[in-house]
Amino acid sequence: MRRLPIFLVLDVSESMAGTNRDQLEEGIGTIVATLRTDAQALDTVYLSVIAFAGIARTLVDLCELPAFRAPPLPIGGGTALGAALDLVMDEIDRQVIIGDRSRKGDWRPIVYLFTDGKPTDDISAARERWLSHYRARVDLVAIALGDYADQAVLATLTDHILAFDPSVPGGFEVFMRWLTESVSLQSQRLGETEGGRKLSLAKVDERIIVQADPDDLHAPHADADCVVMIGRCQRNAQPYLLKYDRHKGDSINTEYLKIPVEGYRISGAYPLNETYFEWSQPGASGGQANTADLEGAAACPCCGNPITIALCRCGHLFCITGPGRADCPWCGSEVEFQGGGVEDFSVERGQG
Ligand SMILES: [Zn+2]
Ligand SMILES: [Zn+2]
Repeated sequence: MRRLPIFLVLDVSESMAGTNRDQLEEGIGTIVATLRTDAQALDTVYLSVIAFAGIARTLVDLCELPAFRAPPLPIGGGTALGAALDLVMDEIDRQVIIGDRSRKGDWRPIVYLFTDGKPTDDISAARERWLSHYRARVDLVAIALGDYADQAVLATLTDHILAFDPSVPGGFEVFMRWLTESVSLQSQRLGETEGGRKLSLAKVDERIIVQADPDDLHAPHADADCVVMIGRCQRNAQPYLLKYDRHKGDSINTEYLKIPVEGYRISGAYPLNETYFEWSQPGASGGQANTADLEGAAACPCCGNPITIALCRCGHLFCITGPGRADCPWCGSEVEFQGGGVEDFSVERGQG
């Protein structure tokens, strides 16, 4: 049986922390469960999962549907799109069977690439490799999640760019259904076109998913739509992620002027594990954020401590119960925190 290799390449950068990551993780499980009930897909579809943040790694090698287990998705700092592209090309070389006189190879592979940001690495070498050796024999469908995905960069890799806003209620489900239908459709049409060469995609629900307009590609703002910061729980040293989202659509509008209101509002605090540091680009930073621009606070997701941005001299954040002495879980030194009005300060932010 000839295989239809499908590679899901998923952005797991910090900005995906929380619901997006959870929905993606769950969505993969749903896709596989649905495709298993589809005889044609069950026979042909082989699925691989690659994740990328500051680094790229294969989470699941091409795997037949009955044996496929949806992997837990990590979170890391950075959006190493170049590394992700290189890895998927390496995996195509390693895993996809090319036909010759003695045997029929796999069907034409399809890569579904999800990203919600702009690359933090240099993609030019990987792009060159892609365009000269892979583009003609692999289909790439790029999915831009939200406003800050760099559609202009994606357009240099493929003509198939779809965009959807994961914050729209029900948007993720609609999208996952579309993806499932597209894979299913492709598996049904394999024999119909010469070598299964034509890419079949399901019809999109235009209220949720839009096909990017090649003449009006969305270039992301210079600044990301969220500020993320990493801390450690004082009680068990577990890392956590604080996420602040930019006030969306807030602006001062008068007849004479229109000023967007700057600032970020708390959207959540999420526990991480040590793999976060493995998945992050070493030494990379998203610059500084000032606490004056950050509105609201979240309790420690590990222990419930109410204060999560206690800053140590070592430059790291941790959680505390309130004023008094506390030990920094990063460097071990004892820090004294005063009660009352605290001055705003700058903190290191992640790459988002
Ligand atoms: Zn804590
Ligand atoms: Zn410290």
